[in-house]
Amino acid sequence: MRLYIDSIGRDVDIDIEYKRTSRYLLSVTPDMNVRITCPLGAKTFEINRVLDNAKPWIAQRIKKLEKSIILGNESLSSGSYIYLFGDRKTIDTRQGKPKVLLEDDSMIVYVEDESKVKNTFDKWWKNLAEKTFSDIINKQSRFFNDMCLDTPSISVKKMYTRWGSCNKRLNKVNLNSYLLSLPYECIEYVIMHELAHLVHQNHKQEFYSLLVKYMPDWKQRKKVIDDNFLLCKKS
Ligand SMILES: [Zn+2]
Repeated sequence: MRLYIDSIGRDVDIDIEYKRTSRYLLSVTPDMNVRITCPLGAKTFEINRVLDNAKPWIAQRIKKLEKSIILGNESLSSGSYIYLFGDRKTIDTRQGKPKVLLEDDSMIVYVEDESKVKNTFDKWWKNLAEKTFSDIINKQSRFFNDMCLDTPSISVKKMYTRWGSCNKRLNKVNLNSYLLSLPYECIEYVIMHELAHLVHQNHKQEFYSLLVKYMPDWKQRKKVIDDNFLLCKKS
C-alpha cells in the first residue's frame, strides 16, 4: 500500500502488520517507509483514517530523516561509515589480531575472520563509551559536592528511543552507547541532564535552573543534537 503525502510531494510505502493489540502503532524506518501495526481485524477504512490523521507526523519525521545523521543503523561493512565524537569515519576491515585503530577519517577494525567484525567493534565501542562517560561524570565533582551526592554508577547500552535515563534510588545513570557518535559537548550535555535528574525527577523550572547553573550553554548543545542526529533502528 502507498500513501501520498502532500507536504513532501510524494508517495511513501506503507507496511501493514496485524498484532494482538488494542492500539495502532506507527513508525518510520530509516529507509523512509512507514510501518503501521494494527489490532487484529482492523478494517481498511479504520487504517486509512489513522494514516490520514498521522500524515503531518509522518511528513515531519521524513523531513527530519532526510536531513539527519541516523544512528542505530550501522552496517560495519568495509566502506560504510560511522560517527565518532561528531566526526565521520569510514570503516575499513582488515585481517589481524582483533583491535580497532583510528586513523584520520578511517576506523580500522582488525579481525581474524570477517564474522567477528561486529563483536570486536561492539566491545571496543562499549569500552570507549564507558571510559568517556565516566570521565565526563568525574569532571562534575563540584556538582556532586554541592548536591551532597555520591558519584553515580553508570550502565551503558544501545538504546533506540532515548539518550539516557536515571535512577535516583539506585544512584545510577543509564546512557546510550550511541552517544559516542555525538560531538563531545553534546555528550556532556546529555550526561549533565541526567545528573540533574538525580536531584529533580521532572522537567520543571527547578530542574532547568539547576541545569543552567552547571551548564549555562546547554540549549545550544541540545540544539546541535536535535538539528543533526536521529536515533532510528532499522526494522
Ligand atoms: Zn530529562
